[in-house]
Amino acid sequence: MEKDQMIKTQHIRLRPSKKECNLLREYQKETAQCWNAIITMAKEYYDQTRKWISKSDLQKQLKGKFKLHSQTIQALTDKFVANRQATAKLRRLELRKIKYPYRKKKYMTIPFKQQAIRTNDNGELILSLSKGIFFNTGYIPDRKIHTAEILFRNGRYTLAVTTEYPEPELKVYGIKAGIDIGEIHPVALCDEDGDGLIISGREIRAIKQWRNKSLAALSKKISYCQKGSRQWRKYKRAISKLISKTENQLRDLYHKVTRKAISWAHAKGICELIIGNPTGVGKNSRRKRKLSRKSAQKISQMEHGRIKQYLRYKAKELGINTCLVSERDTSQDCPVCGHKNRCNGRIYTCSRCGFTTHRDGKAAFMVIRKKYDVPLPEQFQFEHVQAESKYRKSSKGACVVGAGVTQSSLVIAGSLLGTI
Ligand SMILES: [Zn+2]
Repeated sequence: MEKDQMIKTQHIRLRPSKKECNLLREYQKETAQCWNAIITMAKEYYDQTRKWISKSDLQKQLKGKFKLHSQTIQALTDKFVANRQATAKLRRLELRKIKYPYRKKKYMTIPFKQQAIRTNDNGELILSLSKGIFFNTGYIPDRKIHTAEILFRNGRYTLAVTTEYPEPELKVYGIKAGIDIGEIHPVALCDEDGDGLIISGREIRAIKQWRNKSLAALSKKISYCQKGSRQWRKYKRAISKLISKTENQLRDLYHKVTRKAISWAHAKGICELIIGNPTGVGKNSRRKRKLSRKSAQKISQMEHGRIKQYLRYKAKELGINTCLVSERDTSQDCPVCGHKNRCNGRIYTCSRCGFTTHRDGKAAFMVIRKKYDVPLPEQFQFEHVQAESKYRKSSKGACVVGAGVTQSSLVIAGSLLGTI
């Protein structure tokens, strides 16, 4: 990734037939078996020699033992070795509790590397499960696929593909803009000339509220059921369906929001985006908070991270530089006189000099000042837009998950429901 290649991941919803589902399930099991074998081997080797088994030794021992594509086995050993290294690193940082991979799995995500991936005459992506066994994903990629994975999440199969493409030249000339990430307005931008864009997330909040309400109702109902009973399983399914549905809606909306922001910045000729990073909660205040608030905070930080990640890669694709600065005080400080103001509504007013403007837009401007000493623009002008979801019009049949995939690229036979 560092060199001059960028890697992008896309998620595509698969609609396998019942037969294909069974096939995939078999291979998920086989993949898990192979993973379990790796764990056992590594442990035995360590118990005997007090040393780590090498990747090549693992691969040698696994050869021909599993009904999987050789590169899938390779990918699994790669994963194990990477996991082992990451764990060792964390353990060295005094996080002793973190365990090396040990858990035996029943099903597992199936990884595919280059040689197991090809396209047929129709351009559809074909994955080689093992010798002579192929799975037609029905997905038509628009560029070369680097790696692929078949995941089973929340009761449905998803294809995750990574594509590689040359990194664009980063812009050298242009103006700077700041970004403020928030709850009400997921993204607010302001450039050094005082022009800004404020994107509302009304629908994001509505979806979150609906999800929380429905989840609460379902968990109450499930608490009356006997674990494992028919009714219990029914509610369990409803919960995972709800989670996956809202997760897809939210992901889509976050992509829309960040796409709008970056397109705006690109049209304005912005060369660098300065993103305000939350400073986090102080140690003392954290202890006092109740658990529910703590977890609420955690969730909002996760969301923050996601928006940041989307912004950064979308900016990079267009050659816009990004950097992170602390957003400390950006919502309080007055850009004119520097006075700290607490503000409640969406409008910011300075109690000392009377300066007034949109709160989040001003915060975005102050984010630029965290890095550059830019003068106060003559005036602030903020454009307001809404992020709209594609799910709104049709309540059923949205078949695409993730960004950048057109609906027409998914032509898969098989009934919609009832296969899983
Ligand atoms: Zn002031």
